[in-house]
Amino acid sequence: MKEPTEMGLKTKKQANKNPRKKRRLHPYCGHCKKRFSTTSERKKFCQDSCRYAARAAQKLTQRKERLGHSPFMHYLASEAIKAGTVEILHGATVEGLLELYGVYVYTMRASKTGSSTTDTYEISHIAPRKGDNCIGLLHARNLVVAPKLMNRRHQNKHLGEGLSIDSAILRPEWRVEDDASNKDTINKIFSYLGNEIISNFQARAKLQPSKRHKILLWFEKQKDSPSPEKLEPMTTQALQKLKAEMEGKEVFRIPNYYHCTETVFLHELKRHSHYRPELSDMTSIWERVEPFYSYESEEFDNDIIPTNALAECHKLIFNTLHGMPSNHEELAELLGSHLPAPENSFAAAQ
Ligand SMILES: [Zn+2]
Repeated sequence: MKEPTEMGLKTKKQANKNPRKKRRLHPYCGHCKKRFSTTSERKKFCQDSCRYAARAAQKLTQRKERLGHSPFMHYLASEAIKAGTVEILHGATVEGLLELYGVYVYTMRASKTGSSTTDTYEISHIAPRKGDNCIGLLHARNLVVAPKLMNRRHQNKHLGEGLSIDSAILRPEWRVEDDASNKDTINKIFSYLGNEIISNFQARAKLQPSKRHKILLWFEKQKDSPSPEKLEPMTTQALQKLKAEMEGKEVFRIPNYYHCTETVFLHELKRHSHYRPELSDMTSIWERVEPFYSYESEEFDNDIIPTNALAECHKLIFNTLHGMPSNHEELAELLGSHLPAPENSFAAAQ
């Protein structure tokens, strides 16, 4: 029984010592597509640089895929469609896009979900989206988070400040038609920004595909799910409910974040003080008002500042954020005797 094993080993050793000449292969490089010569069946790229480039390209595709299905990108696309050009992102940098994303996230958080509440906030333009001779940029510096109603009333007015691009220098290749799809517009935004910005932004922001996109993918995998034609027109909420039913689960609502006009305006005054330092005086006055919002009752304490005085303050702050020169004295005057003492003296009095 010993011999055959030894013999077997010997044969193998001999085979290694005198290998048959390995077959030369001539595959096409997976990156540069040029033909190269190799003896390894596993080698897919002609050289290391091609291997790295292919990996980077794969990463970029992945990042674009995630980013392209994110609600934020859909927001950018809808803004580009409304403005008629992707050049609303003129001069965009990774940092600038991260700032813009911050404004977007804050607005989503501040806006309450559900139809029963009236406090919804919108991103409004300082230099209007479609001005007379210019297009307001989609840039954190040109945007204000404001109550929806106030924003709608403000319409296309431009009180000053903000960032815009001259309509005369807009290029035809970056135009977006009214009826363009979000998908096409997102691709146009991708080409406009370029791969480097896209890739670096997504590497830092790590956006995820929208809930809707994820739910639709889930339905694709189910055997007994309705046809895509039936699913497509359904709202995200309805899709979520149907998915939960199919899974035998209950739908839980994400708790609301508590925001009111006072808190949103304080946030925006602080944010814009970064671009316009003259706003800091107004900010410190408003800082004394904001603590009187009751997060429990979700109402502002009217005993401290009467509703009409408060409404006047809102208007003044809204206009100031939209470019009117800062006038903190006027704000102090509007609040008059209602203005609470600075926080430290207030604490000392108690
Ligand atoms: Zn190659």
